[in-house]
Amino acid sequence: MAPAATTRVAGVIGDPVEHSLSPALHNAAFAALGLDWVYVAFPVGPGAGEAAVHAMRTLGLVGLSVTMPHKADVVSGLDRMGPVATRLGVVNTVSRCPSPVGDELVGESTDGPGFIDALKGDDGFDPAGRSCLVLGTGGAARAVTLALSEAQAASITVVGRRLDQARSCARLAGSAGSAQLGVPGVVSDLIASADLVVNATPVGMSAGAGLPFDLDPSAFGPRHFVTDLIYSPATTPLLAAARSRGSASANGLGMLIHQAARQVEIWTGRPAPLDAMSAGALAALGRVRR
Ligand code: NAP
Repeated sequence: MAPAATTRVAGVIGDPVEHSLSPALHNAAFAALGLDWVYVAFPVGPGAGEAAVHAMRTLGLVGLSVTMPHKADVVSGLDRMGPVATRLGVVNTVSRCPSPVGDELVGESTDGPGFIDALKGDDGFDPAGRSCLVLGTGGAARAVTLALSEAQAASITVVGRRLDQARSCARLAGSAGSAQLGVPGVVSDLIASADLVVNATPVGMSAGAGLPFDLDPSAFGPRHFVTDLIYSPATTPLLAAARSRGSASANGLGMLIHQAARQVEIWTGRPAPLDAMSAGALAALGRVRR
């Protein structure tokens, strides 16, 4: 439906944000739910995240997605944070919740839960009791490490270029977490004893990319489930290497869709229309199927 004076607005703040798939995902969801809502991308420069979140009240926005570089700096502008955001210290979702003293701004992080939704729901891999290896120590790795721990993974080893960062990330998994410096032989040995391997580095996004930490592809086999958080390209060198050795695998599109689905549920209180959101994402990516 065409926007009208009564149309309600949600959006994403980030910098850059012009290539975000979020408008495709969320507008597909709102249309499938029959809501007179629209979702737009707001380019918001560094340092302006908190002001943008405060503007939710002024402008009556129904929800905001938050992407880089604002995931940590909007926290100071919120009234409350949900349990995952509290543990991570970052948010990717802000909602307005009525309270006796006016609307509260509430932040949560849906990346990790969205990762688990995709892993268990779409890919049929339950991390409970399994050995997991997370490559990378940034925001996505932290969300995934916490989520794997909450999903009862037996062990979560975090590999990074900097050991202090890997340790900080691994601490999110409590006694199940451990950290390793990413040197090629070590990473290949760690893969050999893992059930699940998650690439949470950007290695594989650009043309001609190699494998994260120059790992030995012969470490992969049929026992592994390998997931790359990258979704463009759809098949990274890591996924190609794993598949060629019989590993099951998935790219990051499922996580992207499910973290957005959880945002839709937070803002609307209704189950997210996953098929419509998936179709919206694929159309925006110019692909016909996952
Ligand atoms: P980030 O915070 O910048 O963290 C990137 C991590 O990768 C850091 O640990 C960094 O190490 C490491 N890294 C970068 N280049 C590397 C290299 N050449 N070799 C080894 N490690 C390297 O980024 P992020 O937000 O966590 O995102 C990571 C990836 O996940 C990106 O590809 C992003 O697109 C993807 N992602 C996907 C979704 C989804 O929904 N599918 C959601 C979030 C992120 P240093 O700290 O040492 O630089």
